[in-house]
Amino acid sequence: MSDKDYRVSLFKEKAFDRRKCPKCGTWFWTLGDHRTCGETPCQEYDFIGHPPTAKRFKLREMREAFLTFLEKRGHKRIPRYPIVARWRDDVFFTQASIYPFQPWVVSGVEKPPANPLAISQPCVRFNDIHNVGRTGQHFTTLRREVTNS
Ligand SMILES: [Zn+2]
Repeated sequence: MSDKDYRVSLFKEKAFDRRKCPKCGTWFWTLGDHRTCGETPCQEYDFIGHPPTAKRFKLREMREAFLTFLEKRGHKRIPRYPIVARWRDDVFFTQASIYPFQPWVVSGVEKPPANPLAISQPCVRFNDIHNVGRTGQHFTTLRREVTNS
């Protein structure tokens, strides 16, 4: 894609600015005063120890607040899909929240269960294990915290 393909009217209307990260060379969009792409190692996450909310949330509370926020704005909450991706023959585990909609919904064969929708999808990402506890954005959680409520 060329640079002009990214310059859509919505981004211009909302005053997004497209910049090139001086550390890694990746292009990114910003509404603020971001100098880097915001990904590690270019920038460490600064919310750790400095949460963006005054209230402290447990994982389950944050998930519920997130889903409720979206529901109030017209999104239909749908149940999570299994971590073992039995509906796919190309992967063993659900590694991202898009996986439940691949391949049929994404390819247009099936309609999504709702649109817009909200899902809190537990994922297993073995390709990121070496980053857990090192990058500030890769974490683990307890089994009891990921069960559906
Ligand atoms: Zn970068």
